Amino acid sequence: MSIAGNLQKIKQGLPEGVIIVAVSKRKPAEAILEAYETGHRIFGENRVQELVEKQPLLPGDIQWHMVGHLQSNKVKFIAPFVDTIQSVDSFKLLKTIDREASKAGRIISCLLQIHIAREEHKFGFSETEVSDMVQSEEFRELSGVRVAGLMGMATFTGNMEQVRSEFNNLRRIYEELKENVFSGEEGFSELSMGMSGDYTVAVEEGSTMIRVGTLIFGPRNY
Ligand SMILES: *Cc1c(COP(=O)(O)O)cnc(C)c1O
Repeated sequence: MSIAGNLQKIKQGLPEGVIIVAVSKRKPAEAILEAYETGHRIFGENRVQELVEKQPLLPGDIQWHMVGHLQSNKVKFIAPFVDTIQSVDSFKLLKTIDREASKAGRIISCLLQIHIAREEHKFGFSETEVSDMVQSEEFRELSGVRVAGLMGMATFTGNMEQVRSEFNNLRRIYEELKENVFSGEEGFSELSMGMSGDYTVAVEEGSTMIRVGTLIFGPRNY
């Protein structure tokens, strides 16, 4: 099937309002344009260098989401144009984004990445860490970032009950923060969870944003 057909098929199966981030890493600008031409505008990349190379080749109204681990010293390269950074996994990184956004005269949407998987190598805050951060004075003073919600990746496994319970846990953390810390703030509204292999489970568990690469663009060559 074509990229347009793949996107269409995924959209048709989703509940109203769930956002698709088309993860275009390791795919050429032409593939992104093919999706763009169907009206799709939200694309995700996981490496700064690749994002910085592709962005000038593509239409200016694309909303670029950074979804991969980000080093603080590289934030400055994407701050002038990135729409959302989904992979905020430390307070240090969030403060750097805040500073670089202010320098660029922008406000950058951020999602806080929570470590929900059993795998050690995955990045993200623990529940306690995120809770401490968002209740701190320093956090409330940030003005160059808009913390729009949470992001998480489940364990890479075929055990869908485990995946479901990890997503369910993330949903609970999200709801608790929404109620106790961001109460009354409309801006805290996104729960980014679900990829090609597990997005249907993620959506059943309350995802508002899925990040899909392979199912749209086909397998990646590494
Ligand atoms: C690559 C990637 C995805 C998309 O993965 P697929 O399995 O190809 O859909 C989603 N989220 C993150 C953080 C990624 O790095």
